[in-house]
Amino acid sequence: AKKRDGKNGAQLFDKAMLDRARSRAEIEANIEAGLAESWFEAFVQPIVNLNGRGIAGFEALMRLNHPQKGLMPPAEIISVAEETGKIVRVGNVIMEKAISNLAKISRISGMQDTYLAINFSPLQFEPALPARLAAIVGRHGIRPERIVVEITEAVLMHDNPQIRMIVTELRRFGCRIALDDFGTGYSSLSYLNRFPVDIIKIDQSFTRAINDGDDDVRQKSRMLIEGITTLSHKMNCTVIAEGIETEEECRTLHQMGLDYGQGYLFHRPQHAAALIEELMAPQSSVARAS
Ligand code: C2E
Ligand code: MG
Ligand code: MG
Ligand code: MG
Repeated sequence: AKKRDGKNGAQLFDKAMLDRARSRAEIEANIEAGLAESWFEAFVQPIVNLNGRGIAGFEALMRLNHPQKGLMPPAEIISVAEETGKIVRVGNVIMEKAISNLAKISRISGMQDTYLAINFSPLQFEPALPARLAAIVGRHGIRPERIVVEITEAVLMHDNPQIRMIVTELRRFGCRIALDDFGTGYSSLSYLNRFPVDIIKIDQSFTRAINDGDDDVRQKSRMLIEGITTLSHKMNCTVIAEGIETEEECRTLHQMGLDYGQGYLFHRPQHAAALIEELMAPQSSVARAS
């Protein structure tokens, strides 16, 4: 209800605002407690080669493991962390945990060429980032070439010279740059022109749409994916399809020329220890060469 709807409306409005403020304050408190008590974890989800399904890399996905409430998904936490500036500290914790997980997974499984993709918010591109990342990979004995920096259009939209400089610096250091959620934002193509991107991740809404019940939607989204894939390959970019849940989606995307995929069909995001157990199971076939 809008405020001018009268007394009841105004009360509803105020109550909704209050609820929102309360839950935001609660999330903020959870973030602070999470930082102080080490509740943050970097889950990992494998990214597979669609041709054979061997693991090519992993994406690190943040989880806050609250001692009473359990695992909290990142969406709300990240938006509150971004608004309050806490995302920089949270991001530093995730970088450390994720890279430490990669080192552990590599050591135990013997996979030395798999990469690790880490998500970054715009605020994280501060001048200290490259040195901080360098220190972490150095400490864990991970080559910087194994790190993929995932950014969204929100990062590029700022068209901020500092962000551009830091992204360039990370790339010079050896990291690759992935453009996440491709196709969901604005004027995506112009970023490809102005920014050095190595990997394009096609958003899961496209993966869903290729089997849409509406013929028109289905055909157009398939053409869009094919077009994006052809274009990306011409620009020497690797393409990853996000959110693959069914064999049918996998088959169609593979036929359309997609290189890599990520989704519940292959592996869910999970605790690094659980993934290691899965990889080490005697019947495991997932660690085939990518
Ligand atoms: P994203 O980077 O696009 O990550 C992919 C999301 O899709 C993840 O959601 C993952 O759990 C989910 N997903 C993977 N496979 C499937 C599937 O087959 N079906 C469906 N329905 N979903 C699938 P999650 O973990 O909830 O993360 C949401 C978003 O939060 C991420 O989207 C990313 O933008 C952000 N995020 C996660 N971790 C971090 C982090 O450490 N730092 C920052 N700045 N952002 C993060
Ligand atoms: Mg991502
Ligand atoms: Mg994405
Ligand atoms: Mg996303």
